[in-house]
Amino acid sequence: MGIFLIVLFTNIKNLIKIGGLILITNIVFCCSLMVGYYSTSFLFKYGKNPPPISTIVNDKDANKDIYIIILDAFSSKEVLKKYFNCESRLLAYLGENGFQEHRSLSKYINTAQSLPNIFSGAVFDQKTAYKTKDIEQMQQLLPGRYLNNFAAKYEYQLKFSSFIIDKENNQLKKIFGRGSDFTIYFFSLTDRFMLYFFPSGKSSNNKGIHEIANQNIISIKKTLNQKAKNLSVHHFLTFHSAYFDKGFKESFIENLNEADEIGISIVQLILAQKPKAKIVILSDHAERGPEFDKKDSYKGILYIKN
Ligand SMILES: [Zn+2]
Repeated sequence: MGIFLIVLFTNIKNLIKIGGLILITNIVFCCSLMVGYYSTSFLFKYGKNPPPISTIVNDKDANKDIYIIILDAFSSKEVLKKYFNCESRLLAYLGENGFQEHRSLSKYINTAQSLPNIFSGAVFDQKTAYKTKDIEQMQQLLPGRYLNNFAAKYEYQLKFSSFIIDKENNQLKKIFGRGSDFTIYFFSLTDRFMLYFFPSGKSSNNKGIHEIANQNIISIKKTLNQKAKNLSVHHFLTFHSAYFDKGFKESFIENLNEADEIGISIVQLILAQKPKAKIVILSDHAERGPEFDKKDSYKGILYIKN
């Protein structure tokens, strides 16, 4: 009995030691994330030329409603075929419904650089400015001077809906109070761990992504019921869970199906109520990852119906 108790106590002591070690490691890890987060600078220059969005939206469009749907990380046909040997129902649907395929505008494979580049022509030094951390600065770049001037000149009601300029996006963002990337980074690490060991947790992982999608759809429906001329930009995050999943390829196909569904339903929704609207479907970059040739990660999509 005495020996049993001694063994038990030693084991409990060891367990407490191990638990303490795990706790300390976690605290150190989180602190190092915070240091990285607050020390990263947001450096960019405005490019000399008008921003890439000026090639999509210009004076010729001034009498139409304009809908720009950003499907984050949606890859081109070529990339889908090459890495996943699959086809997108959305891209086929767009081709059959009067959309023209254009060359992707992506010059960066990071959302927080690619979107400011497309809308404001911001140019980043890849080495020093990895991501923006400052939501106020981001709000100056999105939708940016070009679309603001266009909307003012032609009396559009302008709406730009994206999590990267949304301060109320989630709890952590409120706590840290700055940009969005920290939360994405933080969640991606914990999710990666959780999803690997508990794949059934996927639905909760996707919750934020679905919330963004649902809010966007509600907001699009609102603009469709308005009499005012709309210039409406909506950013969807449908592809952001596959990457952290155990079965990357299977997950990717699931995400693609979902993105296809969302994309098709939005286009149908807009066409049903505003058949003359100009609709732009674009991505900020294609899928990324260690198994990807980096140049393929620039091959996102751009489909336009005038
Ligand atoms: Zn992105």
